[in-house]
Amino acid sequence: MGQGLSCRVKDEHWLFTAVQSGDLETVRSVLERDPDLIQQTTVNDRHSALHIAAANGRIEIVSMLLGDQLVNPDSLNRHKQTPLMLAAMHGKISCVQKLIEAGANILMFDSLNGRTCLHYAAFYGHSDCLQTILLAARTSHIAVSWGFSRFVNIRDGKGATPLHLASRQQHPDCVHILLDNGALVCASTGGYSFPGSTPLHLAARGGSIDCIRELLAWGADRLQQDSSGRIPYMVALKHKNEACAALLNPSSAEPLVWPSPLKFISELHQDAKALLERALMEANKEREKTVLKGTSHWVPSPSHYDSDGIDDNISEVSETEVCCICFDQVCTIEVQDCGHQMCAQCTLALCCHNKQNPSTPPVCPFCRSKIVRLVAVEVKAAHQKAWKSRMPTNCIEESCGLSAVSSFGKARIDQCIDKT
Ligand SMILES: [Zn+2]
Ligand SMILES: [Zn+2]
Repeated sequence: MGQGLSCRVKDEHWLFTAVQSGDLETVRSVLERDPDLIQQTTVNDRHSALHIAAANGRIEIVSMLLGDQLVNPDSLNRHKQTPLMLAAMHGKISCVQKLIEAGANILMFDSLNGRTCLHYAAFYGHSDCLQTILLAARTSHIAVSWGFSRFVNIRDGKGATPLHLASRQQHPDCVHILLDNGALVCASTGGYSFPGSTPLHLAARGGSIDCIRELLAWGADRLQQDSSGRIPYMVALKHKNEACAALLNPSSAEPLVWPSPLKFISELHQDAKALLERALMEANKEREKTVLKGTSHWVPSPSHYDSDGIDDNISEVSETEVCCICFDQVCTIEVQDCGHQMCAQCTLALCCHNKQNPSTPPVCPFCRSKIVRLVAVEVKAAHQKAWKSRMPTNCIEESCGLSAVSSFGKARIDQCIDKT
């Protein structure tokens, strides 16, 4: 009996070691000898074999354990963490996918901080895991029973949403994804960090200028105070995040804001949306140049939108692809149904900053027809279709409200008219 027990302890040790190192054969043979071993957990943290496999990204073992329905996908360790939480924490995307496929519950809370797998993915900055969990939430019963936006804004034991955590931990990609999925940009925490902190306060503390850019572009309020009356600017100053403070200074220029409430935007195709978002961020970076002057962040970025890059950009493409509104950028967005094309910056100026009457859908600056949708221009198709946007229109400048057409741009418009 004593011998049997010691043999079992040895097997248990082998099992966990084999699971950790991804040794599928050993795991199989140990479990064949003693199938009950699968119910064992580690002594300290009470991790199951599935926890260990998921945390270490051992997808074959995760698949085997789940495939044979040997284990509960939602088994809990000492801290009530599920294998899915551990996979999200360690960024093991294939295990996250497998666990969700096998029915793992995305709405479980640990006993450490009352966090879900979404909090873990956001805190540790694993944007692929974050996307996968959000997709699962959209398509699962949770969207119906709980509401998707409630899930995106789910609070941990101290009142922190996933957006608070991603902002604090300096993960701009995760911040972006969460905002894109409806995370509330101005939510205040309960007890996490300083009470009443918004994601902007936490980003100011963390010191990620990219997180601050994302939050500001989504309309975060620079004047919102935490419970002690501090605005994010003061938090950035206190933590000596000079460049962040420059952007957060209420007296510096207001950044452009992505108009998320516009129904129009939700009808954008994904790639067109990505182009417009990039254009918005680039436009804001242009504005920042004056704001950041003198701070450590004042270095010319290698972006191809910078003045140095523009000439190269244009010389590489046929002239017919140049936007006929600004004569500065390449046409990347096509208006449907009319098929006219323009660059992302001009589209943004036309569609997204039309503050006079945001409820009416914007019209094409070339033919004034209603814009049904915006799609990204396919590079090959651009050549054949570009002629359409070459039709000169007298009211291009007025109709799209662009003030930035330079005299250089106007000269190019004349050339363009001569040629057509
Ligand atoms: Zn343009
Ligand atoms: Zn048109």
